[in-house]
Amino acid sequence: AGTVRWGHKVSGVRALGDGCHEVAFANGTAVTTSLLVGADGAWSRVRPLLSGATPEYTGVSFIETRLFDGDNRHPNRAKTVGGGTMMVLEPGKGILAHRERGGNLHTWVILARPRDWFADIDFTDRAAATAQIAQEFDGWVPELTALVTDGETAPVLRNIYTLPIEHRWDRTPGVTLLGDAAHLAAPNGEGANLALYDGAELGKAIAAHPDDIETALTEYERAMFVRSGASNAGAPDLHVMLGDNAPHDLINAFTGS
Ligand SMILES: Cc1cc2nc3c(=O)[nH]c(=O)nc-3n(C[C@H](O)[C@H](O)[C@H](O)COP(=O)(O)OP(=O)(O)OC[C@H]3O[C@@H](n4cnc5c(N)ncnc54)[C@H](O)[C@@H]3O)c2cc1C
Repeated sequence: AGTVRWGHKVSGVRALGDGCHEVAFANGTAVTTSLLVGADGAWSRVRPLLSGATPEYTGVSFIETRLFDGDNRHPNRAKTVGGGTMMVLEPGKGILAHRERGGNLHTWVILARPRDWFADIDFTDRAAATAQIAQEFDGWVPELTALVTDGETAPVLRNIYTLPIEHRWDRTPGVTLLGDAAHLAAPNGEGANLALYDGAELGKAIAAHPDDIETALTEYERAMFVRSGASNAGAPDLHVMLGDNAPHDLINAFTGS
């Protein structure tokens, strides 16, 4: 009890010297710690203590919609998506869908467009936003466009940002990062896996050096930089998925040809 403090939005962090940091919360409270781990995602408040890197827009955005209990309530859509992940791509655009637990169908429209292009869509007007997005797929078969037009949730815009693959920092006493805070990449199927793995590896490093946190953080970061760099460099990137030769470049990436 009390180990996890819910409802504490971090408003700022600052170095106090000797590896100690103060973490201030939006509710006006603050704590001081000798070990600060930034696991706070793409827009990490902790990252600036270590590096000046900021996420950059990839030129691609996802728009998310969902259908629930596909097998019973939307059998034709469930059949279109199949048993796992479905991807339908052409240059600059695509429709992806996952079958998730309970037969829920999670769809992402992918569009390679500048951020300003999306600013013209009023996402608070669900019907108008859905129609505007569906229009981009004019002429596509209704089995696919229905994943968007029949969506049971309001479309949610997700601009996709990344950090440079070679993002690194010099060892700084008392603080480190994990997951997207450390190595934000465009969705490639590994981000959540890498974040969980980082957490486990950091825990093991601290358990191995309980009286020497700096050695633990040095060992953790050294392996993490190599692991995340190799994973993100080897993953098919969004421009491979949506490039002029789509969908063939992605097929070739899967088949190794
Ligand atoms: C469209 C899309 C599809 C994806 N698909 C996949 C996939 O199929 N497989 C996969 O492995 N990965 C996928 N990913 C990537 C995956 O979602 C991320 O890599 C993963 O969530 C990173 O985990 P994290 O814990 O580092 O960060 P996050 O999941 O972002 O968690 C950070 C947490 O910190 C909290 N936080 C942030 N700022 C503050 C603050 N100031 N104060 C307090 N709390 C704060 C947030 O509320 C959040 O709970 C996808 C990503 C996107 C955008």
